[in-house]
Amino acid sequence: MHIAVIGTGYVGLVTGACFAEFGVDVTCVDIDAEKISRLSSGEMPIYEPGLEQLVTKNVQSGRLRFTTDIKQAVEQALVIFLAVGTPPKEDGSPDLSFVESAARSIAEYMNGYKVIVTKSTVPIGTGEYLRTLLREINPRLNFGIVSNPEFLREGAAINDFMRPDRVVIGSRDQEAIAIMRDLYRPLYLIEAPFVVTSLEAAELTKYAANAFLATKISFINEIANLCDSIGCDVHDVAKAIGMDRRIGSKFLHPGPGFGGSCFPKDTQALASVASQFGRDSLIVDAVIEVNRRQRQAMLPKIEKLVGELSGKTIAVLGLAFKPETDDMREAPSIDIISGLMNRGAKIRAYDPVAMIEAAAVLPDVNYADDEYSAATGADALVFVTEWNQFRALDMKRIRDLMKSPKIADLRNIYEPEDMRELGFEYVGIGR
Ligand code: NAD
Repeated sequence: MHIAVIGTGYVGLVTGACFAEFGVDVTCVDIDAEKISRLSSGEMPIYEPGLEQLVTKNVQSGRLRFTTDIKQAVEQALVIFLAVGTPPKEDGSPDLSFVESAARSIAEYMNGYKVIVTKSTVPIGTGEYLRTLLREINPRLNFGIVSNPEFLREGAAINDFMRPDRVVIGSRDQEAIAIMRDLYRPLYLIEAPFVVTSLEAAELTKYAANAFLATKISFINEIANLCDSIGCDVHDVAKAIGMDRRIGSKFLHPGPGFGGSCFPKDTQALASVASQFGRDSLIVDAVIEVNRRQRQAMLPKIEKLVGELSGKTIAVLGLAFKPETDDMREAPSIDIISGLMNRGAKIRAYDPVAMIEAAAVLPDVNYADDEYSAATGADALVFVTEWNQFRALDMKRIRDLMKSPKIADLRNIYEPEDMRELGFEYVGIGR
């Protein structure tokens, strides 16, 4: 089977590479000519573990190719995935202009029956809107519309795609559903569950899933702040409640507030969808507000530890919004570093993979070669992203390199007691 993936970003590239690995013939399309030329010469535009090997292998086997030529990709494909961005507009509602423009191109070049699949996270009603749009452009077009939301996590994207907890297929077109089942057939072998729903239920599922995960994060952050006031350890509480299988231990890690390209945008989008349907979104609104406050609370926390920030050097470890990615979209590090710099602090930062991406948004930061050179002469060390390689640093060496041994551990990487024994002044979140 031939498929086309329109939009070769985090989701589109992983989707294309993984389907090619399943044996499908894949053309990945993007309007960004530079991205396509880098990919065509074997260079990855993003950091994602295992992606480069998977792409190289499937390009060599002839099953995966990259192009800006949407016409040819559409003509060849039976299934066309839309994996373009859906960033938030000023009012929080998703910007569908990329989806719409890609759909118009598809309509222009369709040469027979096609299954058109939204993999982008799109508001409820987008599938039906696309159906109407395509019919308006050409009433004779023959197609099925499917919503197939993507649940992969950056940093673990390939495994998440290849071994998903479930595949959601939303459609009322039986032929399209049958083709989608066929396309995902390799996952039957590992018994991945398929959930076939209406278009609208599939579209809502993605927002509901992300909003629920964001709720867990805001919830544990609120409990962590309470722990700070009570004087007990949020890790004890999180561990004990997480053992209840109705609650589960995942996503109960307090931190500087969620970021990334999905949770902030998808919680806002769900709230905007609710108001569009005349419904309240009280829980989601609270999750967004708790997160806003959590992110704002980080600067005063660091200031309390360091004192007057002006003229101080702060070492920041971790810049990406989470480990194992170079994605800087809505990363907490941006607010924290900008806030510190606005107060006159100098920043020396290190991230294992995100420094090039970070330099585009934070050009005035001094980027270090490793953790130890970042810490040298610093007045405080701030952990912002919990990369595994930060978990076993030589903290004695770090202490001796620093001007004053102070740690703001915004991911609770280290044990407060251990750090205090080493002579650090230490603050974590809820400990
Ligand atoms: P991205 O910004 O990394 O990639 C989008 C790509 O689409 C870009 O390369 C852009 O140049 C391209 N594009 C835009 N308009 C185009 C057009 N008309 N034709 C061809 N290409 C076009 O975005 P992403 O992170 O991959 O997210 C894509 C969608 O998937 C979003 O809706 C997002 O919410 C959703 N999603 C993302 C993740 C994630 O972890 N990043 C997970 C699940 C779902």
